[in-house]
Order: sequence, then structure tokens, then C-alpha cells
Amino acid sequence: MTPMLTCSNYIGGKWVSSTNGESLESRNPATGELVCTAPNASLEEVREAISTARQAFEGTSWAEDSPLRARVLYRWAQEMRNRIEELTRLLTDENGKTLADAKGELERGIGIVEYYAGLAQNVFGKTSISSPNYYSFVIREPMGVIGAIVPWNFPAVLMLRAVAPALAAGNAVIVKPASYTPGINYAMTKIFSELEDVPDGILSLVSGTGSIVGAELARNREVDMIALTGSSETGKRVMQAASETLKKVSLELGGKSPNIVLGDANFDKAIQYALKGAWMSFGCQVCYAGTRILLDNAIHDRFVEALKKQAESMKLGYGANQGVDIGPVISQDQVDIIMDYIDIGNQDAKLVTGGFRADSGDLSKGFFIAPTVFDDVPVESRLSQEEVFGPVLSVFRFDGVEEAAEIANNSLFGLAAAVWTKDINKALGLARKIKSGTVWINTYGRLPYQAEMGGQKESGIGIQYGEEGLNEFTQLKHIGIDIGD
Ligand code: NAD
Repeated sequence: MTPMLTCSNYIGGKWVSSTNGESLESRNPATGELVCTAPNASLEEVREAISTARQAFEGTSWAEDSPLRARVLYRWAQEMRNRIEELTRLLTDENGKTLADAKGELERGIGIVEYYAGLAQNVFGKTSISSPNYYSFVIREPMGVIGAIVPWNFPAVLMLRAVAPALAAGNAVIVKPASYTPGINYAMTKIFSELEDVPDGILSLVSGTGSIVGAELARNREVDMIALTGSSETGKRVMQAASETLKKVSLELGGKSPNIVLGDANFDKAIQYALKGAWMSFGCQVCYAGTRILLDNAIHDRFVEALKKQAESMKLGYGANQGVDIGPVISQDQVDIIMDYIDIGNQDAKLVTGGFRADSGDLSKGFFIAPTVFDDVPVESRLSQEEVFGPVLSVFRFDGVEEAAEIANNSLFGLAAAVWTKDINKALGLARKIKSGTVWINTYGRLPYQAEMGGQKESGIGIQYGEEGLNEFTQLKHIGIDIGD
């Protein structure tokens, strides 16, 4: 267990405790133990952070000094790497994922910082000559002050996925952690605060609620852009608040992703990825989890049988314990939501395995739900249409690729999908037909940070990762020069 952390906010280059005396608590979802307390910031505190971020952006050379930005980001990555074991343990204790998953998340996050450190000195615009004496310079400028609103499920990587490209592009950033996981964002910001040569106010951390801190970031005129990763409902609220000042928004939201297995697929690999791609080890609490499994009639029965066997072999427990395959879900509220979806499944579909809260022995202190599979889920069922964010898979049957595409696209979301087949023509045909920001062929869940991704439909607006992920935090300016007499 990590020693209990007392977190502060980081505003204008100083660590400040809550001025209103209110605090948030994060508890280990496997054991119920207190992991950290953090400020529950007031409106005044978030406004102070916005004002110091604005001064840092406008009053220092940060936006023009790309070698400094690259150096700072490299050093941050290095220092986090030096302390990866302690960060890993904190992440496991705060959000319940296994140590292996937590370490994987941190390694990925640090890789993202290094990648954008490399790009920081490579931000280019373009030049054109449209008539004899007229030159157009199109330059890329940072947006200004960015509000980065982070969810609890991947609090490390999703903070860094926004902060690294935003800083690399020359912006000042204010991070708002999720209320369940302020500790890991505090620990990463603490490491940043120890770096030299960073102007005060370039990175701030303000813990608090979505309705106070998040909403003010979205509304305030002095914030130029919001980068939110969260649910589609929150995305709509943020977009509405941001519209008051016509602020740019980048929204990475929910999903209900289809994982489609054709009759000729590599059966063993597809089975393995049915659970891996759904992130069953983390209770499917992942935006792009492949929680809709679409099976060709030809393999359906054999596949469901194998899925049941594998799901039943997974050991539930505290993610820091040896031999644990699947950790808890985040909270009692989430347990209640998931159990409601299990009720819907019991009414609308056929239960294959699971369907209950696991609370015997050590599990009684945490929020554990057995890996659950429902078969023959009707596409119009809420279980098929809504994001459960719990260890519940829905299985569908299809006959031919047309029907597979139809079921896959019968969703408000469009984040990710996968197709399993040895027939490349069918694979590419389906990949083109599916309305989704990412489509994998014969794999699931691999998102190299060099390659752009983003959500379609209600899964989001904007692009993450790659060069475009940095460009997202910039705006283009046209400077036209007449060199004639
Ligand atoms: P959430 O939407 O409840 O909260 C996300 C963040 O928004 C939190 O920091 C929260 O405090 C803040 N927030 C809440 N209300 C707000 C408001 N009115 N104004 C401004 N900020 C507000 O999501 P969550 O439960 O933390 O995370 C799970 C959700 O995130 C799932 O829907 C999941 O699919 C999605 N997600 C998406 C991606 C992606 O890359 N597309 C990645 C991870 C998670």
C-alpha cells in the first residue's frame, strides 16, 4: 500500500492547500483504504490558476523557446521514468488496475512525453506566392491557455496525452484531475514542478469537481481551448459551456466498440483478444474496449464456449497481489450502474457466465464484479447501445459481412472496431464500411502514439497522437506581405 498522500494544488508555480478547507478523498477500490486527500478547489482558486497561466503564456518566452520546451519535456519524462515503480503502485492503489496494467500505462505516458519532446522543435507552417508580389506566410501559433480535463480510468496517460503536445506546442496548461484519481496527477505534476527553467504558471494542477473546476475552465474567456477526455454526456456539457466564448474543444469520449470475428479467423488469437481487447483485466473500464463481440454463425457456438471458459478462469482481486487477473471497478456507484445493466441483460439476452457481484473473503472490501458474458443480445437493447464501463460483454451473431457492418454501425458511438479474418479483401472492405475512428485488423487495442486517432459520431471531436495531435493545440495565422511598390 502506498503511504497516504496529502495533495495540494499547483498554481502560479506554488503548491497551495485548499483555501476553502474542503477536500476530496481517493480510496483504493480493492480495499477501501484511503489513498490520498486533495483540495476541492473553489471558483476563486480555479480563476487564480487561469490568471497565472495567462500571465505565464503572455509574459514569458515559453511560446517562442522551442529548445527549452523540448529540454523540459525530456527531463520530465526522464524523472518520471526514474520513479516509475512508485508511480505504478500509486496508480494501482488509486484506480484498481493490476500492477502490470499500471506500469504499461505509465510507460506509454512517458513515451508520449518523449515523442512530443522530439516534435517540439519541429512545428512548421508554410509559405505560398499567390500573385507576383504577394507572399503568404501561414504560421502555426500555440492556442494560449489550455484546460486539460482528465478522467479516472487512465489518469496518467490521458493527462500526458493532452499536456505533452500542448506544452510542446508552446501553450500554458491547467490540469483538472478526476475526483477519483487526484493522487497520480499530483505525483506527476510534483515531478514537473521540480524541473529547472520552467516559467511559473506554465503547468498548473487544480483538483476539484467537474461542476466547479471543469465547468469554469470550459466557460472562462481567458481559457482558449479545452481538451477533455471523458464521457459523451460530459463532452456535450463542456461543448455547450465552451460555446459561450466560441472556445475550441477537443473531445475524446465514450465508445461501445465492435470486435468482429469472421468464420475464417485465427480462432485462438481472436479468443485471446476478445478478452484482452475488451480490457477485461481492468473490468472493461476503457473507452475503446471491444465490448460488442460480433460472431459469424459458423463459429458462434465454439467461440462462446471458449469465451466462457476463459472468463471463468480469471482471478479477481487487489491488482497489487500476485496472480490477480482482474481488479475491481472504481466505486459503489459504478457497481450499482453495472448491476442495472446486468438486470437488463438478464431480461433481453442469454447469460453465458458471471452476472453477479463477487464479495466473498477478501473481495468483500472492494468493488468486484465477475466477468460477465451475455449472448444473443438484441441490437436495440440498452445493453447493446450504452457504455456499461464494467466487465460485461455482449455477443451478437451475423451471417455475412453486410450484416456484420450493419450491427457494428448500429451505435451512436464510433471510437474503435476490429475485424478478424484471413481474407484481406473482406477485412479492408469492412474497415472502410465501419464508421469508427480506428479499425484494427487481426489485432485489438494497439494505439502507437506516432499514429493519429480520434472518435467519430458521439465518440468525439478532434485528433490525438501523432503530428496532428500536436497541431490540435495550435492555430494557423496568415501573414500576407505585398512586396510591390
Ligand atoms: P466523466 O465524463 O464523468 O469525467 C471526466 C472528467 O470531466 C472528470 O475530470 C470530471 O470531473 C470532469 N467533468 C464532469 N462534469 C464536468 C462538467 N460539467 N464540466 C467540465 N468537466 C466536467 O468521465 P469518467 O467517468 O472520469 O471517465 C470515463 C469516461 O471517459 C467513459 O465514458 C470513457 O469512455 C471516457 N474515456 C474516453 C477516452 C477516449 O480516449 N476516447 C479515454 C478514456 C475514457
